[in-house]
Amino acid sequence: MNRTIELVKTIYEIKQLENFDEAQIALAGRSNVGKSSLVNRLAGRKKLAKISSKPGKTRSLNYYKVNPDGYFLVDLPGYGYAKCSKTERAKWAKLIEAYMTSNPQLKAVAVLLDSRLTPQKIDMELTSYLKSLGIPVIPVLTKADKPKQRELAKLQSQWKDILQQKNNPLLFSSKTGKGEDNLWDVLGEYAKL
Ligand code: GDP
Repeated sequence: MNRTIELVKTIYEIKQLENFDEAQIALAGRSNVGKSSLVNRLAGRKKLAKISSKPGKTRSLNYYKVNPDGYFLVDLPGYGYAKCSKTERAKWAKLIEAYMTSNPQLKAVAVLLDSRLTPQKIDMELTSYLKSLGIPVIPVLTKADKPKQRELAKLQSQWKDILQQKNNPLLFSSKTGKGEDNLWDVLGEYAKL
């Protein structure tokens, strides 16, 4: 299917949060995981989401409408940037918490995980938090063009155990387009729930 995504809203603060009737799927991941590249790949454009030369600088929630399906992909600010101040980190946590806990239309969170790294504590903290809220996690291993097949398989199995899911995490590469169709299918299924 020929899909398009368009940016319809950007917010920076809790008081700007509003409820939409449409289903939402959020995209989360630590800074530099390849989130902007993934959004651009899904959009089929190069510069829709700014590929960050300064990681951790995008503090906004960006709502993209997926057409013709009609649901929203909500790009959350990246987390875990080392040079980020405590105040900034706390602000991130508050905004994300407010977004996630007051949102019946949030169907799942696609958590992007760097396929070149072993499972990281900060990512596991987010996935357990989501689990505690009863929000489904869609794990996506990014930059899947980088590691060897064997390493990818090992990492998939580790994450499958950590998340106690029966399916393998998705593989995705913004560089080669690997996993793109599969990701669209999975997002579409969750958006329909
Ligand atoms: P963000 O901070 O999560 O938005 O990450 P970016 O999309 O800005 O990407 C961070 C870095 O990873 C950039 O240098 C990208 O070129 C690189 N990158 C992103 N996606 C891929 C990918 O699929 N394959 C490879 N090899 N590099 C990637």
